[in-house]
Amino acid sequence: MPLRSPEQFLASLRDGRRVVYRGQAVPDVTAHPHLGRGARHVAVDFRLAHEQPANPLLVDRDEHGHAASRYFTIPAGAPDLLRRRDLIEHVTREARSFVPLIKEIGTDAFFALMIVAARMDRALGTAYRERVRACFDRCRDGDLAMAVAQTDAKGDRSRRPSEQARPDVYVHRVRETPGGIVVRGAKAHTTNAVFANEILVVPTRAMTQADAEYAVAVAVPANAPGLTLVASPRGFSATSEFDNPLSSRYSLTESLTIFDDVFVPWERVFLCGEWQYAGALARTFVEFHRFTAVSYKTPLIELLLGAAALIADYHGMAAAAHARDKLARLIMYLQTTRGLTTAAASECRAAEGIAVPNVLLTNAAKYQFARGYHDAVRDVQDLAGGLVVTGPAAEDWEAPDIRALIEPYLGGREGTSAEDRLRVMNLIRDLAASDLGGYLEVLAIHAEGSLETQKLTVLADCDLEPLKRAAARAAGVAGPP
Ligand SMILES: Cc1cc2nc3c(=O)[nH]c(=O)nc-3n(C[C@H](O)[C@H](O)[C@H](O)COP(=O)(O)OP(=O)(O)OC[C@H]3O[C@@H](n4cnc5c(N)ncnc54)[C@H](O)[C@@H]3O)c2cc1C
Repeated sequence: MPLRSPEQFLASLRDGRRVVYRGQAVPDVTAHPHLGRGARHVAVDFRLAHEQPANPLLVDRDEHGHAASRYFTIPAGAPDLLRRRDLIEHVTREARSFVPLIKEIGTDAFFALMIVAARMDRALGTAYRERVRACFDRCRDGDLAMAVAQTDAKGDRSRRPSEQARPDVYVHRVRETPGGIVVRGAKAHTTNAVFANEILVVPTRAMTQADAEYAVAVAVPANAPGLTLVASPRGFSATSEFDNPLSSRYSLTESLTIFDDVFVPWERVFLCGEWQYAGALARTFVEFHRFTAVSYKTPLIELLLGAAALIADYHGMAAAAHARDKLARLIMYLQTTRGLTTAAASECRAAEGIAVPNVLLTNAAKYQFARGYHDAVRDVQDLAGGLVVTGPAAEDWEAPDIRALIEPYLGGREGTSAEDRLRVMNLIRDLAASDLGGYLEVLAIHAEGSLETQKLTVLADCDLEPLKRAAARAAGVAGPP
């Protein structure tokens, strides 16, 4: 099958899936006034590849010589990872800094599944690798959209899955049948599952033997009987393009993804009780996914930086020392984030023939992005001034008599129009002081794992012993035994 057009992708979402939004069942997500916006946004991946089939950044050839979306190119080394980063950046820029996350995250999960399945097959004599590969080929050849449901609802964070008072806060196997398994439970925050054809389910944490029923990884079609997607409206409530140039046109949609005894045939089961591999799968997915994450963060920082520079110019203060100081900080924030993705790709390692981004550098990139995000927003808010939250509404601007009344007071430096200044203000409000702005701040911290998870990962991955020995040598002490 050739690469799908955006229309074919959108048509594939009319498949009887059970989506709920603000208390109502949604029979067709593409026709829904709010969700339809998200569906059209994520279709950007299909539009770009369909419009430019010869663009090697977007379209690759599979092993049979057929055209395939480049997201499905299994990275063999640093050049492939860098190209994947460039692809994610390019598409995200095309969508005004909102990653579509409809193929990026699914292929991250497939790469991790391939690596862990190969290890399981060798150690346990299972045949998971072949199943994963068959599912991957089906998604690639059908040019399917994928979401990944990793984060469980989790309940009491201090307890393991099997210790929870509510057994379904982690997705688990409830029974086995000759044809497959039945799963129950809920995954939280699943981005764009409502626009996916396939939902890949992977564990969110390491498990013990007692948690074996919770050690499951499966692929489920979005219209599987028993699956309900409760879509969140948060972050993208805007409707006016003037007031909210971004969040009125683009949207990411998370869902509470509920598995109410969903049957999964064996060919879609990739982990089923092998608790020793749950942690490895959770970590390996995140190794790819945090690299994807930092790749889609740079276009957002670019937009913040561009908006900050623009408003400083409109205000006639681009040359002011404090403005240059803030712009310099934003430039360094951008370059550090992007530089770390380059380094993470360049210093990758091979696992089962697949290039895995450097774990320390990827986590350092994600952490420094997330840790610095609120500071960056503060600098942009500072440069923009109070009009960001006190400015007139679209309706005022569109009413000729009111516009005539207020326009003389809203311009910036000579040679710039009041309308342009207001539009840049509105862009900044949308990014930094709106429903979307708050969503982006929480996304920065929590999406792809909260700040603490990056610290835990670098502590686990960094060998401190040689550094301790060097410090002991420098101190002239023997060091710990
Ligand atoms: C916009 C957005 C999109 C997302 N998209 C996806 C997606 O597509 N797929 C997916 O699977 N997930 C997704 N996530 C989930 C994301 O990975 C989680 O939000 C993140 O891992 C944090 O988990 P949580 O929300 O359950 O918060 P928690 O883990 O509850 O974190 C809250 C606080 O509790 C702390 N904490 C948690 N557990 C412990 C503990 N045991 N001991 C001490 N402190 C603890 C944390 O450090 C943090 O400070 C998304 C999240 C967001 C915000």
